[in-house]
Amino acid sequence: MEKEQYFGVSVSPLNYEEIISDLSSRMARNEKSTIIAVNPEKVITAEKNEELRELINSATYQIPDGIGILLASKMKRGNINSRVTGVDMMDRLLKFAADEGHRVFLYGAKPEVVQKASEKIKEKYPEIIIAGIQDGYEKDEEVVVNKINEAKADLLFVAMGSPRQELWIRKHMGHLHPKVYQGVGGSFDVFAGHVKRAPAFYRKFGLEWLYRLMKEPKRLKRQLALPKFLIKLFFAK
Ligand code: UDP
Repeated sequence: MEKEQYFGVSVSPLNYEEIISDLSSRMARNEKSTIIAVNPEKVITAEKNEELRELINSATYQIPDGIGILLASKMKRGNINSRVTGVDMMDRLLKFAADEGHRVFLYGAKPEVVQKASEKIKEKYPEIIIAGIQDGYEKDEEVVVNKINEAKADLLFVAMGSPRQELWIRKHMGHLHPKVYQGVGGSFDVFAGHVKRAPAFYRKFGLEWLYRLMKEPKRLKRQLALPKFLIKLFFAK
Protein backbone atom coordinates (compact mmCIF):
# COMPACT_ATOMS: atom_id res chain seq x y z
CA MET A 1 0.00 0.00 0.00
CA GLU A 2 1.68 3.18 -1.26
CA LYS A 3 0.75 6.10 1.02
CA GLU A 4 0.39 9.66 -0.24
CA GLN A 5 2.28 12.52 1.39
CA TYR A 6 0.90 15.97 2.14
CA PHE A 7 3.48 18.29 3.75
CA GLY A 8 5.16 15.33 5.37
CA VAL A 9 1.93 13.72 6.57
CA SER A 10 1.06 10.25 5.23
CA VAL A 11 -2.45 9.37 4.05
CA SER A 12 -3.60 5.86 3.24
CA PRO A 13 -5.31 5.49 -0.19
CA LEU A 14 -7.42 2.49 0.87
CA ASN A 15 -11.23 2.60 0.93
CA TYR A 16 -13.45 1.04 3.64
CA GLU A 17 -13.50 -2.47 2.16
CA GLU A 18 -9.76 -2.51 1.53
CA ILE A 19 -9.00 -1.41 5.08
CA ILE A 20 -11.28 -4.05 6.58
CA SER A 21 -9.80 -6.80 4.44
CA ASP A 22 -6.24 -5.73 5.31
CA LEU A 23 -7.14 -5.40 9.01
CA SER A 24 -8.68 -8.80 9.03
CA SER A 25 -5.45 -10.42 7.78
CA ARG A 26 -3.43 -8.44 10.30
CA MET A 27 -5.71 -9.66 13.10
CA ALA A 28 -5.21 -13.23 11.92
CA ARG A 29 -1.44 -12.67 12.12
CA ASN A 30 -1.86 -11.26 15.65
CA GLU A 31 -0.67 -7.82 14.58
CA LYS A 32 -2.06 -4.67 16.16
CA SER A 33 -3.44 -1.91 13.92
CA THR A 34 -4.32 1.73 14.50
CA ILE A 35 -6.60 4.03 12.53
CA ILE A 36 -6.32 7.80 12.63
CA ALA A 37 -8.42 10.35 10.77
CA VAL A 38 -6.57 12.99 8.73
CA ASN A 39 -8.01 16.29 7.49
CA PRO A 40 -6.50 19.60 6.23
CA GLU A 41 -6.64 21.14 9.70
CA LYS A 42 -4.54 18.30 11.11
CA VAL A 43 -2.08 18.35 8.20
CA ILE A 44 -1.47 22.08 8.66
CA THR A 45 -0.93 21.67 12.40
CA ALA A 46 1.25 18.60 11.92
CA GLU A 47 3.46 20.34 9.37
CA LYS A 48 4.76 22.50 12.20
CA ASN A 49 4.42 19.99 15.00
CA GLU A 50 6.83 17.10 14.63
CA GLU A 51 5.34 15.08 17.49
CA LEU A 52 1.87 15.18 15.98
CA ARG A 53 3.28 14.36 12.54
CA GLU A 54 5.14 11.37 13.91
CA LEU A 55 2.01 10.25 15.77
CA ILE A 56 -0.06 10.37 12.59
CA ASN A 57 2.60 8.76 10.43
CA SER A 58 3.14 5.87 12.80
CA ALA A 59 -0.51 4.74 12.53
CA THR A 60 -1.32 1.74 10.34
CA TYR A 61 -4.04 3.59 8.42
CA GLN A 62 -4.37 7.37 8.07
CA ILE A 63 -7.87 7.74 6.67
CA PRO A 64 -8.79 10.70 4.39
CA ASP A 65 -11.58 12.13 6.54
CA GLY A 66 -13.31 14.88 4.62
CA ILE A 67 -13.33 16.47 1.21
CA GLY A 68 -10.06 18.41 1.65
CA ILE A 69 -7.69 15.46 1.32
CA LEU A 70 -9.73 14.09 -1.57
CA LEU A 71 -9.39 17.37 -3.49
CA ALA A 72 -5.68 17.48 -2.65
CA SER A 73 -5.21 14.00 -4.07
CA LYS A 74 -7.03 15.00 -7.26
CA MET A 75 -4.79 18.05 -7.56
CA LYS A 76 -1.66 15.96 -7.18
CA ARG A 77 -3.04 13.18 -9.39
CA GLY A 78 -2.96 10.78 -6.48
CA ASN A 79 -4.99 7.61 -5.96
CA ILE A 80 -7.39 8.65 -3.22
CA ASN A 81 -10.82 8.67 -4.82
CA SER A 82 -13.22 8.50 -1.92
CA ARG A 83 -13.50 9.90 1.55
CA VAL A 84 -13.13 7.54 4.49
CA THR A 85 -14.75 9.30 7.43
CA GLY A 86 -14.03 8.39 11.04
CA VAL A 87 -17.66 7.79 11.92
CA ASP A 88 -18.39 5.65 8.82
CA MET A 89 -15.16 3.68 9.35
CA MET A 90 -16.31 2.93 12.89
CA ASP A 91 -19.73 1.87 11.60
CA ARG A 92 -18.14 -0.54 9.06
CA LEU A 93 -15.90 -1.94 11.77
CA LEU A 94 -18.90 -2.51 14.04
CA LYS A 95 -20.59 -4.47 11.28
CA PHE A 96 -17.40 -6.43 10.67
CA ALA A 97 -17.12 -7.20 14.41
CA ALA A 98 -20.77 -8.29 14.55
CA ASP A 99 -20.36 -10.56 11.49
CA GLU A 100 -17.09 -12.13 12.66
CA GLY A 101 -17.82 -12.39 16.39
CA HIS A 102 -15.07 -9.95 17.43
CA ARG A 103 -15.52 -8.23 20.78
CA VAL A 104 -15.90 -4.45 20.93
CA PHE A 105 -15.05 -1.95 23.68
CA LEU A 106 -16.22 1.68 23.70
CA TYR A 107 -14.07 4.11 25.67
CA GLY A 108 -14.75 7.86 25.90
CA ALA A 109 -17.43 10.56 25.95
CA LYS A 110 -19.77 11.34 28.84
CA PRO A 111 -21.24 8.40 30.80
CA GLU A 112 -24.76 8.83 29.43
CA VAL A 113 -23.42 9.25 25.88
CA VAL A 114 -21.31 6.09 25.81
CA GLN A 115 -24.20 4.16 27.44
CA LYS A 116 -26.69 5.41 24.84
CA ALA A 117 -24.23 4.81 21.97
CA SER A 118 -23.79 1.23 23.14
CA GLU A 119 -27.57 0.66 23.23
CA LYS A 120 -28.07 2.13 19.76
CA ILE A 121 -25.23 0.05 18.34
CA LYS A 122 -26.81 -3.10 19.81
CA GLU A 123 -30.12 -2.16 18.18
CA LYS A 124 -28.40 -1.68 14.83
CA TYR A 125 -26.25 -4.83 15.03
CA PRO A 126 -28.05 -7.30 17.35
CA GLU A 127 -25.28 -9.90 16.96
CA ILE A 128 -22.56 -7.58 18.21
CA ILE A 129 -20.66 -8.36 21.41
CA ILE A 130 -20.05 -5.14 23.32
CA ALA A 131 -17.50 -6.47 25.75
CA GLY A 132 -17.46 -3.29 27.82
CA ILE A 133 -17.89 0.48 27.96
CA GLN A 134 -16.10 3.24 29.87
CA ASP A 135 -16.74 6.98 29.89
CA GLY A 136 -13.89 9.36 29.07
CA TYR A 137 -13.67 11.03 32.47
CA GLU A 138 -12.00 8.33 34.59
CA LYS A 139 -8.73 9.79 35.89
CA ASP A 140 -7.05 6.51 36.82
CA GLU A 141 -5.61 5.15 33.56
CA GLU A 142 -4.77 1.82 35.19
CA VAL A 143 -8.47 1.24 35.95
CA VAL A 144 -9.34 1.77 32.29
CA VAL A 145 -6.54 -0.46 30.99
CA ASN A 146 -7.55 -3.30 33.33
CA LYS A 147 -11.20 -2.99 32.40
CA ILE A 148 -10.41 -3.25 28.67
CA ASN A 149 -8.11 -6.22 29.19
CA GLU A 150 -10.52 -8.06 31.46
CA ALA A 151 -13.24 -7.59 28.83
CA LYS A 152 -10.92 -9.33 26.30
CA ALA A 153 -11.91 -6.79 23.70
CA ASP A 154 -10.62 -7.21 20.12
CA LEU A 155 -11.55 -3.75 18.81
CA LEU A 156 -11.20 -0.59 20.87
CA PHE A 157 -12.81 2.73 19.93
CA VAL A 158 -11.52 5.75 21.85
CA ALA A 159 -13.65 8.91 21.74
CA MET A 160 -11.85 11.69 23.58
CA GLY A 161 -11.01 14.18 20.84
CA SER A 162 -7.77 14.51 18.89
CA PRO A 163 -4.86 14.20 19.61
CA ARG A 164 -5.72 13.21 23.19
CA GLN A 165 -7.26 9.87 22.14
CA GLU A 166 -4.31 9.00 19.88
CA LEU A 167 -1.80 9.84 22.60
CA TRP A 168 -3.72 7.60 25.00
CA ILE A 169 -3.71 4.76 22.47
CA ARG A 170 0.01 5.09 21.83
CA LYS A 171 0.83 5.16 25.53
CA HIS A 172 -1.16 2.05 26.43
CA MET A 173 -1.34 -0.09 23.30
CA GLY A 174 1.71 -2.16 24.25
CA HIS A 175 -0.05 -3.67 27.25
CA LEU A 176 -3.59 -3.79 25.92
CA HIS A 177 -5.42 -6.85 24.56
CA PRO A 178 -7.27 -5.37 21.54
CA LYS A 179 -5.88 -5.79 18.03
CA VAL A 180 -7.64 -2.81 16.44
CA TYR A 181 -7.59 0.77 17.75
CA GLN A 182 -9.50 3.70 16.32
CA GLY A 183 -9.62 7.25 17.70
CA VAL A 184 -13.14 8.41 16.85
CA GLY A 185 -13.51 11.95 18.28
CA GLY A 186 -17.16 12.88 18.73
CA SER A 187 -18.52 9.72 17.05
CA PHE A 188 -20.16 8.26 20.18
CA ASP A 189 -22.25 11.46 20.29
CA VAL A 190 -23.35 10.68 16.72
CA PHE A 191 -24.19 7.01 17.47
CA ALA A 192 -26.05 8.08 20.60
CA GLY A 193 -28.14 10.41 18.43
CA HIS A 194 -26.99 13.51 20.34
CA VAL A 195 -25.28 15.02 17.32
CA LYS A 196 -26.96 14.81 13.94
CA ARG A 197 -24.94 14.26 10.80
CA ALA A 198 -25.65 16.35 7.71
CA PRO A 199 -28.64 15.22 5.59
CA ALA A 200 -27.87 12.80 2.73
CA PHE A 201 -27.93 15.57 0.11
CA TYR A 202 -24.99 17.39 1.69
CA ARG A 203 -23.08 14.16 2.25
CA LYS A 204 -23.56 13.00 -1.33
CA PHE A 205 -22.06 16.17 -2.76
CA GLY A 206 -19.25 16.48 -0.24
CA LEU A 207 -20.94 19.52 1.32
CA GLU A 208 -21.01 18.31 4.91
CA TRP A 209 -18.74 21.24 5.78
CA LEU A 210 -21.37 23.71 4.48
CA TYR A 211 -24.12 22.14 6.58
CA ARG A 212 -21.94 22.20 9.68
CA LEU A 213 -20.95 25.81 8.98
CA MET A 214 -24.59 26.87 8.74
CA LYS A 215 -25.38 25.11 12.03
CA GLU A 216 -22.31 26.40 13.80
CA PRO A 217 -20.90 29.58 12.17
CA LYS A 218 -18.01 29.69 14.62
CA ARG A 219 -16.54 26.68 12.80
CA LEU A 220 -15.48 29.10 10.05
CA LYS A 221 -12.06 29.61 11.58
CA ARG A 222 -11.38 25.85 11.66
CA GLN A 223 -12.81 25.39 8.19
CA LEU A 224 -10.52 28.00 6.68
CA ALA A 225 -7.84 25.35 7.03
CA LEU A 226 -9.31 23.72 3.91
CA PRO A 227 -8.79 26.55 1.36
CA LYS A 228 -5.52 27.46 3.04
CA PHE A 229 -4.32 23.88 2.66
CA LEU A 230 -5.34 23.65 -1.02
CA ILE A 231 -3.73 26.99 -1.91
CA LYS A 232 -0.53 26.00 -0.16
CA LEU A 233 -0.52 22.68 -1.96
CA PHE A 234 -1.11 24.37 -5.31
CA PHE A 235 1.94 26.59 -4.90
CA ALA A 236 4.02 23.74 -3.53
CA LYS A 237 3.64 21.76 -6.77
N1 UDP B 1 -14.14 13.70 25.97
C1 UDP B 1 -13.84 12.71 26.87
N2 UDP B 1 -12.97 12.97 27.88
C2 UDP B 1 -12.38 14.17 28.05
C3 UDP B 1 -12.65 15.19 27.09
C4 UDP B 1 -13.52 14.91 26.04
O1 UDP B 1 -14.36 11.60 26.76
O2 UDP B 1 -11.61 14.34 29.01
C5 UDP B 1 -15.11 13.38 24.90
C6 UDP B 1 -16.31 14.33 24.82
O3 UDP B 1 -17.30 13.95 25.75
C7 UDP B 1 -16.75 14.12 23.37
C8 UDP B 1 -15.42 13.86 22.66
O4 UDP B 1 -14.47 13.52 23.67
O5 UDP B 1 -17.59 13.02 23.26
C9 UDP B 1 -14.87 15.12 21.97
O6 UDP B 1 -15.08 15.04 20.70
P1 UDP B 1 -14.68 16.27 19.76
O7 UDP B 1 -15.87 16.56 18.92
O8 UDP B 1 -14.04 17.36 20.56
O9 UDP B 1 -13.53 15.57 18.94
P2 UDP B 1 -13.10 15.76 17.43
O10 UDP B 1 -14.07 14.90 16.65
O11 UDP B 1 -13.20 17.24 17.14
O12 UDP B 1 -11.70 15.23 17.46
